[in-house]
Amino acid sequence: MIGILSSIITAKNILKPISETAQAAKAISAGDWNQELPTSSIKELNSLRQSFNTMARQLKKSFQDLEYAAYHDCLTGLPNQCSFRKTLEKTIADNKLTPNLFAVLFLDLDFFKFVNDSLGHLAGDVLLSEVARRLETCVRSNDIIARFGGDEFVILLNNTKSKNDAIAIIIRIQKELQKVFTINGNAVFINTSVGIVFSDLYPMSGEEMLKNADIALYQSKNNGKGMHTIFSKEMSLMSKNRLLLEMDLRQAMERKEIEIFYQPIFSIPEKDIVGFEALMRWRHPELGLIPPDIFIPIAEEIGLINSLGWWVAREACQQLKKWHEQFRECAGMKINVNFSGKQFFESNFIEQIQEILITTRLQPHNLSVEVTESIFIKYTDVMRDKLLELNRIGVKVSLDDFGVGYSCLSYLKDFSIDILKIDRSFTQNLAGNSKIVAIIEAIILLAAKLDVEIIAEGIETEEQLEMIQYLGCCQGQGYLFSRPLEARQCERLLKDFFQPFLNDDQFLPFRHNNQQSHQKANFQNY
Ligand code: C2E
Ligand code: CA
Ligand code: CA
Repeated sequence: MIGILSSIITAKNILKPISETAQAAKAISAGDWNQELPTSSIKELNSLRQSFNTMARQLKKSFQDLEYAAYHDCLTGLPNQCSFRKTLEKTIADNKLTPNLFAVLFLDLDFFKFVNDSLGHLAGDVLLSEVARRLETCVRSNDIIARFGGDEFVILLNNTKSKNDAIAIIIRIQKELQKVFTINGNAVFINTSVGIVFSDLYPMSGEEMLKNADIALYQSKNNGKGMHTIFSKEMSLMSKNRLLLEMDLRQAMERKEIEIFYQPIFSIPEKDIVGFEALMRWRHPELGLIPPDIFIPIAEEIGLINSLGWWVAREACQQLKKWHEQFRECAGMKINVNFSGKQFFESNFIEQIQEILITTRLQPHNLSVEVTESIFIKYTDVMRDKLLELNRIGVKVSLDDFGVGYSCLSYLKDFSIDILKIDRSFTQNLAGNSKIVAIIEAIILLAAKLDVEIIAEGIETEEQLEMIQYLGCCQGQGYLFSRPLEARQCERLLKDFFQPFLNDDQFLPFRHNNQQSHQKANFQNY
């Protein structure tokens, strides 16, 4: 009896708790983390259970942390790519049962690279976190924002009532992100390009929706940054053509398909033509005129940019010399040529410039080499030397696109810069923006002190011109004056400008010396 009784007690007090512990351990290994064992009256067993419970809790926390890390972006705390893809697939599946309009947005920060390159990666990280916070204020509680990596974000707009509602959210986002960011005491401006795909276009998998939103984003960037584009079926065809485009570009020079357009630069307020900016175009036999934003990145990627760039420099100098000879009033006019960073790294960079000037017989001070700030940031020492050499031989240097990303005024004093080109994002945001007005005012004052000329880019309206003039900027270019023109159109423009009475057809966008108030250009070239 005693034997039987002691077996029962042993089974109840010792074997049962041990088997419960074993079962809990089994449950944990099967993924059920919520295992908490009760205390036991036997000291040794109790200690075993407490250790087990601590271990179970720690395991649960570790796995929860792992799970969180697997589905969230550690910098911004937003859901990551993997999590977004899962949510999107689930939304698509649910949508089959109860159809609702939803949209996927692909966002990319324009000029983020400038911030990273100029202020450093830590500042870039601060900017990304701030962007994430601002995005959260622009969407509704049932929308999902995720960071896809780098400066790319995606948003799932759930149950959108109409496409206009989605567009309104996008505009809100773009406005919010256009406001100044203060990063480590520096004022930073960015733009956001957005690609959108709506769920009602045709049945798409999550992967397809993301790919299509990305294609629309690419289109937005090519349309001039800071834009939004809705994906259409035609766009998918275009993206397939990129590979073909690359193959065609390799033969474009030989086939003489690359052309140069010239955009006049005007003095303010006189509105005299003081020079031209040479802008590359590709006249594709099937696709028509392709803008440089599409093919220059491809040319850079496949190593064609140097030969294209030097060809433009030579042709443009030759063309200006021709105009100098044709119209004596043109003698002081300059030609501004855009240079890719890669061109500066050719060992005979200066020799090539000199050779072009000798063969075209153009005076060095009539050539202005345009470089963007990003090249300075990346290759500070090399650029300092190259610009000094340009300065020594008398060629002018223009700092292009000033005002995008991080605009560093110290370049004006540290490098031999003759001209500063204020980016069109500044010019076009002047009206009603006292901060931008103050910045431009300061830039113009400083530039005057350092003997640096200023050209305002992208002047499209009378209002912008008035503001620019009021701020004391003496030169400008933009659609209000003239779009970029073919060489033969420029020739007519110059004729009309300098010999107005010989020309019957009034081609000018506006008349010289304010004989007639200027009208918007009525000729479209692309
Ligand atoms: P960029 O150097 O900033 O050139 C000015 C761009 O602004 C040109 O675009 C011009 O057409 C456009 N633009 C001028 N006025 C206005 C305006 O009032 N409103 C608006 N919205 N836009 C205006 P484009 O010709 O498409 O050139 C784009 C970029 O391609 C250029 O920007 C330049 O970075 C690059 N590029 C063009 N030609 C060359 C070249 O020969 N070599 C290199 N490396 N880059 C080039
Ligand atoms: Ca330029
Ligand atoms: Ca520019």
